[in-house]
Amino acid sequence: PCALYIVPTPIGNLGDMSPRAIEVLSGVSLVACEDTRHSGKLLSHFGIATRTTALHDHNERARAQWIVDKLAAGEAVALISDAGTPLISDPGYHLVSHVRQAGFQVIPLPGPCAAITALSASGLPSDRFSFEGFLPAKEKARLDKLQELKEDPRTLIFYESPHRICYSLEAIVQVLGAERQLVMAREVSKTFETFLSGTAAEVCAIVAADANQQKGEIVLMCHGHSSGDEEAIPAKALDTLKLLCDELP
Ligand code: SAM
Repeated sequence: PCALYIVPTPIGNLGDMSPRAIEVLSGVSLVACEDTRHSGKLLSHFGIATRTTALHDHNERARAQWIVDKLAAGEAVALISDAGTPLISDPGYHLVSHVRQAGFQVIPLPGPCAAITALSASGLPSDRFSFEGFLPAKEKARLDKLQELKEDPRTLIFYESPHRICYSLEAIVQVLGAERQLVMAREVSKTFETFLSGTAAEVCAIVAADANQQKGEIVLMCHGHSSGDEEAIPAKALDTLKLLCDELP
C-alpha cells in the first residue's frame, strides 16, 4: 500500500536486520535515509536495490512534502536512519507528522534501538524510565538539564558521544551526586560490548582513567532519585511524631 514505513536497522550487528525489514525495504519505491552513502552499504549488503534519497535535519521539512507527493501518486516509501530506530535521536519527526496530517498511513516496524536494548540488560529499574537523548553540549545547559532531572524517580537514559562522556559523568557526579547508581553500556551488540556499573563517582573514575572506556557508542543510564528515609515517612506521621516528642519528657 502507499504508506510510509518506519524501518529500524541494526545498531552494530548486521544479524539484527529483520527479514521483514529486508522485505519492506526491497518492496518500496524509495528509501529515505540520513546519509545515502552510509545506508547504501547496508542496503547492498542485503541485496536491496531500492532508490535512496537523503533526509536529514536540514532538509526534512522541504522533503516531507515531496514524499507526501510520492505517496499521493500511489508509491510506498520507507524511512531508515544511520542505525537503530528512526526518530529516536534521529530525523523523521517532521516527516511522520506531515505524512499523518496529509492523511496517509504510517507503518512502524519493530526493531533495534540502543536505549531499549541497553536498558533491558542494565539491571536498573525498567518499569518506569525517561529517555533524555543527548545531554546539551554546553556546560551550563548540561548542568541545568541534570538539575531538572535530579528528583525524577524514573531511570534516566542518555545517549552520549565518546568525546563528551567524561564531561557528562563529571556533571552527573556534581548534580545527581557521587552515590547515584549508573550503568554505562558501550558498543551494544558489537565485538567490544561492555556494561560498566557502579556509583557515579566509581564509573567516572574508571572511565577517566581508561581511554578505552571513552571509545565507541555509549548509552548512559542513571538510577532514578530515591527519596531518603526521612522523606519516606508520610508528612502526617512526622507531624504526630513531632507532637509526641514535644509532649514526652
Ligand atoms: N536511532 C538510534 C537508536 O534507535 O538507538 C540512535 C541514534 S543517535 C544519533 C546515536 C547514539 O545512539 C550514539 O551516540 C549512542 O549514544 C547510541 N548508540 C547507537 N548505537 C549504539 C550501540 N551499539 N551501543 C551503545 N550505544 C549506541
